[in-house]
Amino acid sequence: MKFESKCLYEGYTPKNGEAQTLPIVQSTTFKYESTEQVAKLFDLTENGFFYSRLANPTVDAVEKKIAALEGGVGALCTASGQAASTLSLLNILGSGDHFISSASIYGGTVNLFAVTLKKLGIEVTFVDNDATEEELEAALRPNTKAVFGETISNPTICVFDIERWANFAHKHNLPLIVDNTFATPYLCRPFEFGADIVVHSTTKYLDGHALQTGGVIVDSGKFDWTNGNYPEFTEPDESYHGVVYTKDFGESAYIVKARVQLMRDLGACQSAFGAFLINQGIETLPVRMDRHCRNAEAVAEFLSKHPKVESVAYPTLEGNPYKELAAKYLPIGCSGVIAFTVKGGREAGAKFIDSLKMASLLVHVADIRTCVLHPASSTHRQLTEEQLIAGGVAPGLIRLSVGIENIDDIIEDLDQALAQC
Ligand SMILES: *Cc1c(COP(=O)(O)O)cnc(C)c1O
Repeated sequence: MKFESKCLYEGYTPKNGEAQTLPIVQSTTFKYESTEQVAKLFDLTENGFFYSRLANPTVDAVEKKIAALEGGVGALCTASGQAASTLSLLNILGSGDHFISSASIYGGTVNLFAVTLKKLGIEVTFVDNDATEEELEAALRPNTKAVFGETISNPTICVFDIERWANFAHKHNLPLIVDNTFATPYLCRPFEFGADIVVHSTTKYLDGHALQTGGVIVDSGKFDWTNGNYPEFTEPDESYHGVVYTKDFGESAYIVKARVQLMRDLGACQSAFGAFLINQGIETLPVRMDRHCRNAEAVAEFLSKHPKVESVAYPTLEGNPYKELAAKYLPIGCSGVIAFTVKGGREAGAKFIDSLKMASLLVHVADIRTCVLHPASSTHRQLTEEQLIAGGVAPGLIRLSVGIENIDDIIEDLDQALAQC
């Protein structure tokens, strides 16, 4: 099946007389006939549902669908995008380890890396999204265990050179983790360019209707965890009677380990109803993304010609530094998110936002309805001035998430609000 059809049919196939739509299996637990059967489930020698923190049939269907869309061997849904990023790293790193991340990533992820993971003894080095080979090499340490980046960065709209970073990571036997939230697998599939693990905040375009927080980790199945750097994958796990992940689960070692160790112990799971809502969103992902992209291209053109606008970041614009990378990684479109600054800095930006009539001011992005946000006073307010600037977030920057309304209504609203600045 092609991508659009997979969005509808992967993960759940009703048999004769069964529900056409994905059933919500609203149960914490599952019944068995013998202690022997349950023991096999606990030893991981047999597959089956036994407790919804670890796996649930509705969530499982959505995991299979997302894995198919990204071209991975398996996926693990989480309670939020933050949980997905956290688990994706904790599955590889522990106290005393280090990783390298692009500095152009979501503000919440910067906080997670720089503050919370640091408290756990895991250190990060942020490097420029466009770092040279030498700068990347300089960030390496003997205890470096992973590399991280974001396909289209929130909110700065930089494009991440996945293939180049993957080559760097692999040269040093490290996996590359890519946050593919803004692109979605419809616009870009990072595994095709060498990424090893993909994470998403499904809260954004995959759901798309602002209904359900969620995240997902997807495993390409291609990274060699037996290269000597990752003993947790190759040595027996005594909490499962000596299971060895690479030996017992082969190419699914990473995603199985994330589920049976980290989801078991940390518990940030998605609910059956949440997964149902995310699935509902994914069914229409390609149609929505086409419209988001076309509307955003038109809005970016409009803003770039407006006398009250200082700068516009959207990769399809003439002169955008990421035009070439976008042509390679995002040939169908660059999503609905645009970053721009109005002339007059912070104050004019606030005036603009307060003057909008249709577009909503809210802490969200990638929704069917057009919405705006001022990162420096909201999502990124916990970052210092230096961190803001290092991440490319100007104090007057506005993040505009273009929805799927009629394009004339969107432009009319922006135009009348700009007239107020
Ligand atoms: C929103 C977002 C996250 C965090 O996801 P939540 O679902 O809000 O926890 C991570 N990465 C990116 C790129 C995001 O936009």
